[in-house]
Amino acid sequence: MNCKKAVSMIPAYLEDDLSAKDLQAFLEHIDNCADCSEELSIQFLITEGLSTLSTGDSYDLQTAMTDKVRESHRDITVHNRLFLLRNIGVILVVLMTIAAFVAIYLVFFR
Ligand SMILES: [Zn+2]
Repeated sequence: MNCKKAVSMIPAYLEDDLSAKDLQAFLEHIDNCADCSEELSIQFLITEGLSTLSTGDSYDLQTAMTDKVRESHRDITVHNRLFLLRNIGVILVVLMTIAAFVAIYLVFFR
């Protein structure tokens, strides 16, 4: 992913509107690109800062930003684990189906 693409995805990221695949690519870029990471911070501060102003809460925006990125990483990890588990599940079902056919063949057709 290049910087232009990463920056274009920031609003969607802040809206929690990226697909898991896009989110993973986005986070990988943000983790390794100081410029885009800074741009994300700025846009986060603007978006969150405005909503904070309207509610009157004062909280540490930089910490909130760090928390959000950390949470996104966790979401991706969970997503990838579930994906892996699902694939293992599919493979098991296929293997069990084959085993069932083999068993039926051995019992009835030999
Ligand atoms: Zn970048």
